[in-house]
Amino acid sequence: MRRELRSYKDLPPGPITFETTRGFFKTGSWRTFRPVVELAKCKKCWICWKFCPDVSVRIREDGKGVEFDYDHCKGCGICANECPAGAIQMVPEE
Ligand code: SF4
Ligand code: SF4
Repeated sequence: MRRELRSYKDLPPGPITFETTRGFFKTGSWRTFRPVVELAKCKKCWICWKFCPDVSVRIREDGKGVEFDYDHCKGCGICANECPAGAIQMVPEE
């Protein structure tokens, strides 16, 4: 039996959150390790950007790689673990 293809237009309307608690709390103070990127190694694949659960990886305006929002990065290390180029190191907070 052939199934009809459906699109997002078939989904029921859902709520949209415009402002989250992110704007009110600086969770970066929870961090014990911070990510540091070596831009010369960065392949600009943006995998770290996609994987960060705190939306704390930002693509630099000059397009030369990524930078971090240290006000909200919790230091989980996922970005460093997923980076295929080994461009991100986790270093202890001082
Ligand atoms: S350490 Fe975790 S929270 Fe911080 S930028 Fe990397 S993935 Fe995001
Ligand atoms: S995952 Fe690594 S190589 Fe890819 S954009 Fe992030 S730092 Fe650059």
